[in-house]
Amino acid sequence: MSKVKVAINGYGTIGKRVADAVSLQDDMEIIGISKTRPNFEAKTAALKGYNIYAPADKIDSFKNDGYTVAGSIEDMIKEADIVVDCTPGKVGVSNKALYEKEGVKAIWQGGESKDIAPISFNSEANYSEAIDADYVRVVSCNTTGLCRVIYPLDQKYGVEKVRVTIVRRGGDPGDIKSGPIDALVLDPIKLPSHHGPDVKTIMPHINITSAAIKAPTSFMHLHVLNIKLKNECNAEDVKSLFASRPRIQMIADGISATAQIIEFGRDLGRPRNDMWENCVFKESVSVDDGELYFFQAIHQESDVIPENIDAIRAMMSLEKDNLKSIEKTNKAMGIGI
Ligand code: NAD
Repeated sequence: MSKVKVAINGYGTIGKRVADAVSLQDDMEIIGISKTRPNFEAKTAALKGYNIYAPADKIDSFKNDGYTVAGSIEDMIKEADIVVDCTPGKVGVSNKALYEKEGVKAIWQGGESKDIAPISFNSEANYSEAIDADYVRVVSCNTTGLCRVIYPLDQKYGVEKVRVTIVRRGGDPGDIKSGPIDALVLDPIKLPSHHGPDVKTIMPHINITSAAIKAPTSFMHLHVLNIKLKNECNAEDVKSLFASRPRIQMIADGISATAQIIEFGRDLGRPRNDMWENCVFKESVSVDDGELYFFQAIHQESDVIPENIDAIRAMMSLEKDNLKSIEKTNKAMGIGI
C-alpha cells in the first residue's frame, strides 16, 4: 500500500515536530514543508532532506540564499493527500479556502477557533469521530493534557465536576518575543479561561471550570486539578488507572519540578527533550473528602504531536481502532519509558 502523502504548512515549534513524527511512521510520508523565511529552521529542514516550499513571492529569496525550492505553497498542497496546518494561531484560518479549492484534507492546531473544523480531536476520547473526516482541529496542548486524564476518569468513575488552575509557560524556549519576564499574569482575569470550554468541544457532558495564569517559565505548563467523581475510589486506584493509559507518565524518582522533568527528558535522550506524555506527579495524587487532587505537567511543544499522527490515520481511514493507532504511533516515536 502506498504511503499517505502529508504536507506541513508552517514549520515552527509544532510543524517541525509533526514532520519528524510522520517520518517515523510506515504508513505516511512527508512530501514537503513550507517556510516563509530562509532562517535556521529552513536550514535544518534542508539538512533533514525535506522538500522545501515557499510563498511564490519568496522563492527567489530562498534561492539567493542557496536553497533548492520545490515550488510554491500552492504546489505543495496540490501534491498532498492531507495537510497539517501548523501556522501560528489565527493564521491557519486564512489557508482554508486553498485547502478547499485543492480538495485536500486538513488538520489545524489548537490556536485556531473551534469553528474552523467540525471535529475537535483527542486520540483517546473521540478518535472515531475523525474517521474519514475532511477537516479536524487537534486541540491545544493544555486541552489535550486535560482530555487525557478526564476521559479515563470519566469512563471508570464518572466525573461530576472538574476544577483546574493552569500555570502557563510564558513562551516557548526559542521564542524571543513573549513574556512575562517578571510577573504572574492573570490569563484572562475573567473566568473561565478558554481551556474548560475547549475540553467540552470533545466531551460536551463534562462539567469543568478553568482558570489560567501566565508565568515566567518556558519549560512546561503545570495543572492543579481538583475533580469530584461520581463513584468512590482511592488514590491508589487513580494511580493504577493513570499508569495504564498509553500517554500518561507517572513522574516519581524525586522529581518535584518541571525543570527536572525536562532534565529527565534530556537524560532519556528524547529528541529536543520532548515529553509527549502527560507528566502526572505520582505522589501528588490524593483523595480527600471524596475529591481527587493532583498536579500534572504538560510539555507544550510536544504533547500534541502524537495526536496529529493519530488524526492523520483516522482521517485517511488507515486504522479504525484508536488504541491500535495510539500503540503504533507510540511505538514508532518511542513514547513510554
Ligand atoms: P510557531 O510560531 O513556532 O511556528 C509557526 C510557523 O509558521 C513559523 O515557522 C512561521 O514562520 C510559519 N508561518 C507563519 N505564517 C505562515 C503562512 N501564512 N504560511 C506558512 N507558514 C507560515 O508556532 P507554533 O507554536 O508551532 O504554533 C502553531 C500552532 O500550534 C498554533 O495554532 C498554536 O496555537 C498551536 N500550538 C502551539 C503549541 C506551543 O506550545 N507552541 C502547543 C500546542 C499547539
